[in-house]
Amino acid sequence: MGMGIIFVCFLQEIMQIYITNKTFVYFYSLMLKLNTNDIVNFLSKLTLNRVLNASKMFSSFFLSRIFKRPIVWGFPVSLSVEPTTACNLSCPECPSGLKSFTRPTGTIKLDFFKETIDAVHKELIYLSFYFQGEPFLHKGFLDMVSYASSKGIYTATSTNAHFLTDEVAKKTILSGIDRLIISIDGVTQEIYEQYRVGGQVSKVLDGAKRIIKWKKELKSKTPFVVFQFLVVRPNEHQINEVKQLAKEIGVDDIWFKTAQIYDFENDPNKLIPTNDAYSRYKKNDEDVTVQKNQLQNHCWKMWHSNVITWDGKVVPCCFDKDAQHVLGNLQQTSMKEIWGNEKYGNFRKELMQSRKNIDICSNCSEGLKVWSS
Ligand code: SF4
Repeated sequence: MGMGIIFVCFLQEIMQIYITNKTFVYFYSLMLKLNTNDIVNFLSKLTLNRVLNASKMFSSFFLSRIFKRPIVWGFPVSLSVEPTTACNLSCPECPSGLKSFTRPTGTIKLDFFKETIDAVHKELIYLSFYFQGEPFLHKGFLDMVSYASSKGIYTATSTNAHFLTDEVAKKTILSGIDRLIISIDGVTQEIYEQYRVGGQVSKVLDGAKRIIKWKKELKSKTPFVVFQFLVVRPNEHQINEVKQLAKEIGVDDIWFKTAQIYDFENDPNKLIPTNDAYSRYKKNDEDVTVQKNQLQNHCWKMWHSNVITWDGKVVPCCFDKDAQHVLGNLQQTSMKEIWGNEKYGNFRKELMQSRKNIDICSNCSEGLKVWSS
């Protein structure tokens, strides 16, 4: 009888996690966005070791939710690496563009990158070459992609596409990169530059066309090319136009992303869209702007991924842009040690007790739908 009750409670918790957890809604909506080629390519990266590790990680995530305390098995299945903090643009909500970092800025060293990949590749499935900065500004960026690809890791990056000359576009395809996300936040120069300050939309469009051209010429199935449109008030009226443009150029998909606004109550740059479907925020009964996110005390990211800055610091996620919560440094310690160290454990514990009390976690997208169609 006792065991039966425990089993029913267990099932209820699992159902609750699956049905109401928006992380999983987000995860599945993201999966649905993938096309067949991309799914097949992604699955081809799965080795027995990676699947076993992912199973351990998933199980410990669920058990942590059920027992309401951190239980961590396995190692990260997904990592983000920061090639450089440098950027050619000056977007208003980005510390890289605004040059407002308090942490040291610089560029990752190729040897350090290779050592890191050598140590994690048996478990790692997904590697994103992006945190802060523009990846293509790193001279060895495509060499790093080739190295990670040679280890059978699914590689992805996000770019403002200002450096995709014909030669770079060809090399990009040859590097073996699996996913290329191109940020395009407006279809006319006037609108584009309102958020992408200092950018030229013509360069983005030319770069995207060169990528598609070389992908066809080299008869390559990769990368999966995505237009990412960050929806803000100045560009929200161009959603249909950018869909049309994506079709004409021949990219594989277009994703509409909601924007994180630091000072969402005042929204000083007037960025929150009027269309509620594209906003992470809403007005409450007192006409005050509040988050839609209920900020539940759990975080999928803390179980499956983390971020490595150019100088080897490991931070919890991409919301820690200025590396305020350093959990360890790969220049001194291995990822496996850092993943299980006391600092990481305390961060997970604190998050599960009161996420609102952690600065970065109190205005992030974890548990919220980030992509709209
Ligand atoms: S900011 Fe906190 S809650 Fe949000 S994704 Fe990062 S670690 Fe998780």
